[in-house]
Amino acid sequence: MSSPHATPARRPPIAVGHAPVRPIWVCRRGCGTWPCPSARLTLRAAYDDDLVGLAVEMAGYLFDATGDLVRLNPDDMPGPEALFTRFVGWTRRTPFT
Ligand SMILES: [Zn+2]
Repeated sequence: MSSPHATPARRPPIAVGHAPVRPIWVCRRGCGTWPCPSARLTLRAAYDDDLVGLAVEMAGYLFDATGDLVRLNPDDMPGPEALFTRFVGWTRRTPFT
């Protein structure tokens, strides 16, 4: 099965910055879980005029992360609500959670 965001319309400018390390989904710069606060700021800025596009992009990352994390440790992975909040929930125009 291919990733839903394997060929996105545009890629956020995170390739050389606070990018995810797969399959464990932590920030390449050691900030902790990805998307880290810096990645969120970068992504939010890149999609400032297209928050729906940001949510769709992050839903693609959620899909990929869920697959990776369940393969790594199916008995001890974050629940669906936690993963949704981590990857997509913050994309709304509200304070970061
Ligand atoms: Zn980071």
